[in-house]
Amino acid sequence: MKKAALGLAAALTLALAGGAGAQGYPTKPITMIVPFAAGGPTDIIARMVSENMSKTLGQQIVIENVAGAGGTTGITRALTAAPDGYTIAMGHLGTFSAAPATYPNLKYDPIDGLQAIGLAGGTPILIVARKNLDATDLKGFVAAVKASPDKFNEAHAGVGSVSWTTCTLLKGQLGVPKLNSVAYRGTGPALNDLVSGQIDFMCDQIVSVAEQVKAGTIKAYAIASAERSPALPDVPTTKEAGLPEYQIEAWNGIVAPKGTPKEAVDKLVAALDKALNDENTKKRLMDLGTVIPTAAERTPEGFAALIKRDAEKLSPALKAAPK
Ligand code: ASP
Repeated sequence: MKKAALGLAAALTLALAGGAGAQGYPTKPITMIVPFAAGGPTDIIARMVSENMSKTLGQQIVIENVAGAGGTTGITRALTAAPDGYTIAMGHLGTFSAAPATYPNLKYDPIDGLQAIGLAGGTPILIVARKNLDATDLKGFVAAVKASPDKFNEAHAGVGSVSWTTCTLLKGQLGVPKLNSVAYRGTGPALNDLVSGQIDFMCDQIVSVAEQVKAGTIKAYAIASAERSPALPDVPTTKEAGLPEYQIEAWNGIVAPKGTPKEAVDKLVAALDKALNDENTKKRLMDLGTVIPTAAERTPEGFAALIKRDAEKLSPALKAAPK
């Protein structure tokens, strides 16, 4: 009788601790959906952070690139997956804060319809151009774009992506909202066309363009942050370069489907925090210009608050923008 009672007590403890499945979480590889093509900023941050998280979790985090519709296709796939902790996603300012204003029929609710895990990296925005574009500085670029907008092509990663959102704001400020733009499955592929001169400029996150700027294969007119980046100390801020009103920073963060077991959420949050404290991971991210999140931003509450704050900040301008 005693043995049976002990067995029952153990089973009860396990069940009360959030479900047998979550208790041993993770017991198999985890899929992290990256909603853009490989090689872009979201993919770069996802691979760097998940490499260290896999070590902590004891299971491989497998990146799956699911591009389309400015990243909303991949995020929809992730947030409609089984809420068991085995499907997560790396999204960003575009897929969570800009998407509600750019996709009226969005199939997920970034404010109340997901389980935030934490911010993985702040990503300053650069205005970058093909290396042989005539303008030698931001003032010259602005003057040329204002004078002949029809002579320019801008690249982005789809309506609602960070590159689309941030360049839409720039074009609005310059009074050229209809300047021609070309959509790609990510700014990784777009960068290839910028380097080869097929495209004139784009607004992209520093992590995927820093190396190309350093190598001189593309040029950066300015960084849209209050301060210069230690990764690109020679690139002036927009304020220094004569366009103080253009300041915007992006970010990338991890989410899971709403209803993911607490045990799994807690382990993912702890693994992300550990990755961002890991010296090697931190160095690799910072060398590309990533701003390492504070401890508060790495929490579900802190990240959810950031998504909400930026959605409120962006929606008026985005609702007015031509799609
Ligand atoms: N984050 C996207 C990418 O990684 C680019 C973007 O959102 O503009 O390709």
